[in-house]
Amino acid sequence: MKNKKTLARLITLVMVVNLLSVFSAIPTNAASGQYLAMPINKTTVTCGYKNEAPGYYKQVPSHGTHYGTDMTGSPNPFYASGNGVVLGLNKTAATTGVGRWVAIKYTNVIYGNVCRDLVVRYFHLASVDPNLSVGKSVNLNTKIGTYGNSGVLWQQMGAHLHVEVDTDVVYWNYTPTLSGAVDGLKGRSNGATDSTMLNPLNVFRLKKSAPENQTCSITYNADYRTRTSLPATFT
Ligand SMILES: [Zn+2]
Repeated sequence: MKNKKTLARLITLVMVVNLLSVFSAIPTNAASGQYLAMPINKTTVTCGYKNEAPGYYKQVPSHGTHYGTDMTGSPNPFYASGNGVVLGLNKTAATTGVGRWVAIKYTNVIYGNVCRDLVVRYFHLASVDPNLSVGKSVNLNTKIGTYGNSGVLWQQMGAHLHVEVDTDVVYWNYTPTLSGAVDGLKGRSNGATDSTMLNPLNVFRLKKSAPENQTCSITYNADYRTRTSLPATFT
């Protein structure tokens, strides 16, 4: 009997060790990670990352690659996507660069099988919420501002929100959307590339529970590379 107990304990120990080795393969912060909600609850995507959806070349034929996702919808003002902190903003410029902008660092965002900090940059705002300031914490209930068409080039495209997602939280104010430095942001001539950026529609998810009850539609055009799947969901 004693030998059987010893054997049973040994088997249990092996199972526990195996279980621990499985868990150790998962990032330690996965349990505390957050999903990022879409910036606009009832969204129509009008142009995808790197021109994967239509409308961009047609409206701004000289601009080339699109390093974010454009969207419209309601409500406007729109809200933050989760828990984060404001890294920078520009409340005043309306006709230069990308217009009024906000950059937020979201912490422990679940992306694939890992959690990581991400920067989301919001461009072309008609207004930045007066309560926002650098260093302020945000959550799903925090208004970011009203989307619009401020900045050079984008006035002809009508009111929309341009969002871009960057894994580089150190050089968070570098964007390949700009050619050079303006309004607190830096561009391609300053070294900004798309090498650290992610497709926003692979990061944001539709929050299907109240009060957001998010929905999304994507416009298509056979002339351009198109996206075939909606963002993932969470509750
Ligand atoms: Zn855009």
